[in-house]
Amino acid sequence: MKEGSLSPGLYVVATPIGNLGDITLRALDVLKRVNCIAAEDTRVTGQLLAALGISKPLLSVREHNERRGAEKLIAKIAAGEAVAYVSDAGTPAISDPGAVLVGAVREAGLSVVPVPGVSAVTAALSAAGFPPGPWLFAGFLPPKQKARRDAIQELKHLPLLLVFYEAPHRVRETLADLAGVLGGERRVCIARELTKQFEETACMRLDETSAWLDASTWREKGEFVLMIEGAAAAEAGMAEAEHILRVLAEELPAAQAAKIAARLTGRKKADLYALLVQEQG
Ligand code: SAM
Repeated sequence: MKEGSLSPGLYVVATPIGNLGDITLRALDVLKRVNCIAAEDTRVTGQLLAALGISKPLLSVREHNERRGAEKLIAKIAAGEAVAYVSDAGTPAISDPGAVLVGAVREAGLSVVPVPGVSAVTAALSAAGFPPGPWLFAGFLPPKQKARRDAIQELKHLPLLLVFYEAPHRVRETLADLAGVLGGERRVCIARELTKQFEETACMRLDETSAWLDASTWREKGEFVLMIEGAAAAEAGMAEAEHILRVLAEELPAAQAAKIAARLTGRKKADLYALLVQEQG
């Protein structure tokens, strides 16, 4: 770590999403050396800084005052100060305030320096085990059902892994809408309470999520990242299941072939059976 004062600029600092140990050495160093820290919520950041043993002047820059806050910070940086920006948890500007501020500082011709670290989206993806490939981070879906279903419909045919954030009070209805619009066959990985005491990552089909939530009273609590296989993967998975089904059906009665194919592929027995009946009938 370098000694002395930091060059003037805005330092966009990622903070932990639950486990204090996830603060990076560089984030600590920067937070100690900046002149002041702008925060989404000064109370939340005040607690974090106290836990880290750092004392700095705090300024509030949140969604509703981001433009006005930007002007103040630009004046400070232009006067030679180093200013950090932190959101409540994780990486600023990822479903959090920060982007407007960063844009304004850039536009003013001043330096913006990322100090990377935790984000729930990358933490979730790293433990999900989906095959490598492109993914789309869609943040939060709209809270109202019609708008939410329309938004999901727009993503339905994309050949990309879909990644969403969701709050506990909406996770059940969002998963139901995802199943309704994308189809219950698609694989989903649910990551909840990452880096915290009761963290959990579970993968299943979309039509199994309601039973998974029902399985325990605390399942619906906490913070969630939802990752759902893209259209191409879902279709490729189905094509493979159909191939296995047809090979089995050459040797076995339809019901038995559907049962074994369902066990081998994780697809729904009733769907596979219906497909055989349709083809054979
Ligand atoms: N800026 C943050 C980041 O980099 O991840 C995200 C902030 S956003 C307002 C909060 C949402 O992130 C939560 O509703 C949840 O979807 C997700 N999230 C945050 N912490 C999480 C955690 N520990 N486990 C799972 N999801 C989390």
